[in-house]
Amino acid sequence: MNRRQFLTTVCAATSAFGARALAGGDAAALARNAAAVKTKHWAWMRGTFASLDDWRRTLARMRAGGIDAVLISGSADFYRTHVPAARDEGVELHAWTFAMMRGEQVKPHPDWYAVSRSGVSTADKAPYVDYYKFMCPSRDEVRQYLAGLVRELAQIDGLASIHLDYIRYPDVILPVALWPKYHLVQDREYPEFDFCYCGVCRDRFRQRWAIDPLRLDDPPSHQAWLQYRYDTITEVVGVLAHEVHAHGTLLTAAVFPTPTIARTLVRQEWTKWTVDAVLPMVYHAFYKQDVPWIERATREGVEALGGRIPLYTGLYVPDLSPPDLARAARYALAAGANGICVFEGNTLTPDHFAALTPILKGRT
Ligand SMILES: [Zn+2]
Repeated sequence: MNRRQFLTTVCAATSAFGARALAGGDAAALARNAAAVKTKHWAWMRGTFASLDDWRRTLARMRAGGIDAVLISGSADFYRTHVPAARDEGVELHAWTFAMMRGEQVKPHPDWYAVSRSGVSTADKAPYVDYYKFMCPSRDEVRQYLAGLVRELAQIDGLASIHLDYIRYPDVILPVALWPKYHLVQDREYPEFDFCYCGVCRDRFRQRWAIDPLRLDDPPSHQAWLQYRYDTITEVVGVLAHEVHAHGTLLTAAVFPTPTIARTLVRQEWTKWTVDAVLPMVYHAFYKQDVPWIERATREGVEALGGRIPLYTGLYVPDLSPPDLARAARYALAAGANGICVFEGNTLTPDHFAALTPILKGRT
């Protein structure tokens, strides 16, 4: 199935089944919709490849292991030269791109960067780590800049999708297992991690609600202000989806593990996004959860989407022994995921593949 056929299938499934199912709670329609999307397994990949032969061997190894699609970051030239081999090896190649977190415009456009409730721009001092330089999603210049980046990629023939990562605000609360690493206790939203209070965001919100968000009694509990932030990210997704779809390419996104966690930690309301698939990072250990949680978390996402688009469960290999990786994949599929996505493909050992491949190929 090529990308246009896939897009057509997804759209047909959405219009024929998804909308009606969402409106009427038609369980049978949901089941038909899910069945219309072929099971597929993915890997986020990093690293460089010594040669095209090296790239080809890597893809062949992934394919033999049950991986159908790889997500990898690179320049437009990288994709142009690496797409043909992926096509030959029968592996989809997706362009893994960063959306809001990008530091390359700090010097020419410091005003494009998000400002915390403490009044500090990520252009001057990023939260948590130096590279956490997030742009402000309210600004038209930022949206147009990002649209230009995805436009260039969407024009490359043979890319299976443009894949958005960091399509969100900075974590207002980090996943709980990461708190000790940064010597933090984030039992509520603290001002230095709460974004964005730049002039544009404050003006846009004030025009709609007649109040400056900085003057709210308790910004973290103000529903309209929370919703404003969910909506700005959803709007950016809409701009990028329009751009990508205009070139007949698909848009996919890496998202936080469940709709509830995604809204709470990073202002993602991904169930509303106009993407063609979501890949929630169901990294259980980040949330001090056990492996069976992967099934519960996946199910929350699958049910919230109502079969509108496919969901592929992201699994964090460093926290999964080979037997646990196999269990995790089973839990994800049992919860209705259309497949899994491993982070990251490069780290899969022969033992991982021995445990995982029979499940991915449907032999167990
Ligand atoms: Zn802003």
